[in-house]
Amino acid sequence: MGEFDLIKRFFTRDTRAPQPGVALGIGDDCAVIGPTPGAQWLVSTDMLVEGRHFLSTVAPERLGHKALAVNLSDLAACGATPRAFTLALALPRADEAFLDGFARGLFALADAHGIALVGGDTTAGPLNICITVMGEAPAGQALLRSGARAGDDLYVSGSLGDARLALEAFRGTVSLSAEDFETARRAMECPQPRVALGQALRGLAHSAIDVSDGFVGDLGHVLARSGLGATVKADALPRGPALARQALELQRLCTLSGGDDYELVFSAPPAARAAVQAASAASATPVTLVGRLEAEPGLRLLDAQGRALDWRVAAFDHFKS
Ligand code: ADP
Ligand code: MG
Repeated sequence: MGEFDLIKRFFTRDTRAPQPGVALGIGDDCAVIGPTPGAQWLVSTDMLVEGRHFLSTVAPERLGHKALAVNLSDLAACGATPRAFTLALALPRADEAFLDGFARGLFALADAHGIALVGGDTTAGPLNICITVMGEAPAGQALLRSGARAGDDLYVSGSLGDARLALEAFRGTVSLSAEDFETARRAMECPQPRVALGQALRGLAHSAIDVSDGFVGDLGHVLARSGLGATVKADALPRGPALARQALELQRLCTLSGGDDYELVFSAPPAARAAVQAASAASATPVTLVGRLEAEPGLRLLDAQGRALDWRVAAFDHFKS
């Protein structure tokens, strides 16, 4: 199978009914797309490299899902509505079983969010997946890291830590029951981007970020960009169902510095508490109030008794880890 057969067979779908705003999809030198009048584009790229971002043991279908999910999570963090994406793919060989599963996982998630694949690039090489997503939001309404204010409530969506727990299980540092391993592995391989919550928080949240490199590190980006500090009830951070059965130290490690969670961390004024609960309900996404933003710089973590928790962890850094 050649390059063009591969693109046609696995990545080109019925182009007679393109998604709104997509004037031209796959097949020419460029895709031609347009935003809704009055909206701005929000664009983000994430690359997945075998051995770095995923293990060779992952099922192709889950890999297709995750490659798009991590990108949609960035759109979610900015409150964007997903519109289109491109896919740059390096493959060691044109393995039909792999491509079939990969495309199935990819398009299932794309369809769930009404986002069209409009182009890409395909080449032979070590397995590497790079997706660029394009979303939109009404002009000036994107949620940013820099918008947090002192006095804001700090929230986390869903739960943290199960993905890191799965990684520890794969590394052999922890042993899980078969059921907990499946739960944790699903969290790692099948993250659910919080797109509906992000959109529901437009005009409500002051700031938002998605947790890809660990809660402490990613919250640190919000604090740095907003020039603020925070106090967080560390032991009140929502933890995944498999992680909740582990020892407290491991729970702290995985919730505070786990990574690969793809939950939203966002801030909103206390006066908006009822509205935040309504956004949570409307998007069927649980949110937990975990702390408060303060003018005093630095991150102060508290244990369940309200005592200072000494916890120093760097965010995951590809060039240091
Ligand atoms: P060019 O040589 O002009 O860069 P290509 O020959 O690489 O174009 O690609 C042909 C068409 O197929 C283009 O429209 C491109 O966007 C699309 N395409 C290539 N690879 C992919 C892919 N992995 N997924 C989706 N579309 C792709
Ligand atoms: Mg060209």
